[in-house]
Amino acid sequence: MFFGCNGSAQKNSEEKKEFQITKTDAEWKAELTPEQYYVLRQAGTERPFSSPLNNNLEEGTYVCAACGTPLFLSEHKFDSGTGWPSFDREIKGNVAFGTDYKIGYERDEEHCAVCGGHLGHVFDDGPRNTTGKRHCINGAALKFVPSE
Ligand SMILES: [Zn+2]
Repeated sequence: MFFGCNGSAQKNSEEKKEFQITKTDAEWKAELTPEQYYVLRQAGTERPFSSPLNNNLEEGTYVCAACGTPLFLSEHKFDSGTGWPSFDREIKGNVAFGTDYKIGYERDEEHCAVCGGHLGHVFDDGPRNTTGKRHCINGAALKFVPSE
């Protein structure tokens, strides 16, 4: 059984797409922390259980760490036990998908629809009583905005 969130270096096809927010590599590097840059711009994967957001149970919205676009809601977060923040659904329209075949089977890579920042991958082993999907997201790609 494979539980993971690990993505190998990603193909650059979506970088050719036009995103609403586009910046040069140097600009992203200057704005983001090294961990954020590694995940968002290089499609890296943070160490499991390394994100403080993994155990965050507060109510609020998870937004893109790079551009602030709302991506996931706390009510859709669940404890997958994998060590990465997990959600059973995204905020429709704000997350875009690309297929990633790098480790030998088809997976759906997901990224911010506004800036193209890599977020994680979606798998089909999520909660059966809701969507059945597990959006396995790097905490480094997210910022948490508590509800008022
Ligand atoms: Zn973004």
